[in-house]
Amino acid sequence: MTGHGPGEIITRQPMPVPILRETLQRHRLLRRRMTRLVPSAAWLVLFNALVAAALCGVCAVMLLEMRREIDERAKVTASSLVTLMARDIARNVELYDLSLRGIVDGMKEQRVREADPELRHMILFDRAATATNFGLIALLDSAGSPILTSRPMAPFTAQDREYFQHHLRDPSPDLLIGKPILSRSSGRWGLPLSRRLSHPDGGFAGVVVGVIFLDHFAQLFATAGLQAGDAISLLARDGTVLLREPGVGVGTNVAQSPSFLTMRASREGLFDGTAMIGQDQRRFAFAQVGDAPLIVSLSVPLRTIYAAWWRKAITLGGIVLTLCGATLVLTALLRRELIQRRKAEEATARLNDELRQLAITDPLTGLNNRRRFDEVLARDLRRAQRTGHPLALILLDADAFKAFNDRYGHQHGDTALRMIAEALVGAAGRPGATLCRIGGEEFAAILPETTRIEAEAAARRIRVAVAAGTLPHAASPHGVVTVSLGVACLSPNTGSAQSLVAAADAALYEAKGEGRNTHVMAPPAPLSGPRAA
Ligand code: GH3
Ligand code: MG
Ligand code: MG
Repeated sequence: MTGHGPGEIITRQPMPVPILRETLQRHRLLRRRMTRLVPSAAWLVLFNALVAAALCGVCAVMLLEMRREIDERAKVTASSLVTLMARDIARNVELYDLSLRGIVDGMKEQRVREADPELRHMILFDRAATATNFGLIALLDSAGSPILTSRPMAPFTAQDREYFQHHLRDPSPDLLIGKPILSRSSGRWGLPLSRRLSHPDGGFAGVVVGVIFLDHFAQLFATAGLQAGDAISLLARDGTVLLREPGVGVGTNVAQSPSFLTMRASREGLFDGTAMIGQDQRRFAFAQVGDAPLIVSLSVPLRTIYAAWWRKAITLGGIVLTLCGATLVLTALLRRELIQRRKAEEATARLNDELRQLAITDPLTGLNNRRRFDEVLARDLRRAQRTGHPLALILLDADAFKAFNDRYGHQHGDTALRMIAEALVGAAGRPGATLCRIGGEEFAAILPETTRIEAEAAARRIRVAVAAGTLPHAASPHGVVTVSLGVACLSPNTGSAQSLVAAADAALYEAKGEGRNTHVMAPPAPLSGPRAA
């Protein structure tokens, strides 16, 4: 119970069984509905937050995996491309060397040496060696002057050239791959390949030198299928850029670039570093070209590697974040709705309690009303019969109240009724007692576990308290508002509610007859005697 009438403050009692049962059932239903709603609101928020977090997590893992795959694929593609390019160039070098060896071997034959120059040219220079775009081959005598050249050339001496000096000193017949040189005649970068010509006695007979024009490999680079921003270079080990696709930077030296130093340090590899020409961050894949002092390097700007990934990440991330956001917003709205519903249900429950309280309360005095009196009396009677404890009922009635009303008016009458109620609460109110207004100017006190002696004392206290209110009543012989009381007590296992009320009522009637402002005790049980009938 949430509200209390004045009588209830000190006469709080257990509810009657039917009401208790009904209330409990209603509370149980309400609680069940709330446990369905309230925890589900919290669980819903938690569950949805977890789902949203899981979704974001899965998305992040997927994107990272996608990024890793893209990264891996880019690495594999770049590595295989440079390896392929380096092998191709190395094979060209080998092929060219075959031509050189052919000339060295040919010159060992006396018939070839002594053949007519035109015939000798045909024998010694195969088609590869004469392809103009590829390079040129020269047969030099021991003084460094050309004896034969694959193509007509202006006279020159190679005496100052490094390869010539090398072969002059070193009797080894092995191939010498020199540093790339800038051709004096054509202005093209070339890779000098040379072999020593020796007399049968091992003496220096001259040099066969061939130069591969490195721009020949520009076609190879052009087939690499580069994306915008990518660059593929052929570098000399001294850092000179011999060939580059796109063509910017050819001839410059990048020996100081940290990325170039990294490349120089191993045969092949892959790393991220600063561009050799420019400042952006790039992924480098590189490979050495066979035994030649050349490096093929492919570089791809890092931002282009992940450009497609970023587009996907932004789209997918955006969708997932929007979905998660929408889920969370909807969850918040649903939670608010559930909480509002819970509050509404609590308010309804409170209202129901208030209504129930109103239904059993007398509005004028705040005491229990007639309905409550009937319920409580029946309940307390059953309890008394069950436990064998005594039960007392006091009925009281305002004396000459019609006359009071007539003289002082109805409103004053109401005031007098409230005064009587207060006197009743003050004199008989105790735990377990139920104080009621059961009719116009009639009141009752149900006193469980109260003996006959205690009940009589209570009746006396009530009577005295009302008279002590000293509310003037000129029409009464007592001069003030008074009450008459009838007291009936129930002994174990006897009587009914009706008989108890009838006995108290008869005693009250008797008190009226005795001149009012007094109390009369109904005869003790059994109550089945003639007065109680
Ligand atoms: P008795 O001493 O024999 O009880 O005489 P009585 O006049 O009190 O008895 P009666 O039953 O003739 O009159 C009861 C009066 O109580 C009638 C009515 O005017 C008055 N009454 C009943 N209910 C109310 C109420 O709510 N307010 C007021 N002011 N008077 C009420
Ligand atoms: Mg009356
Ligand atoms: Mg009366």
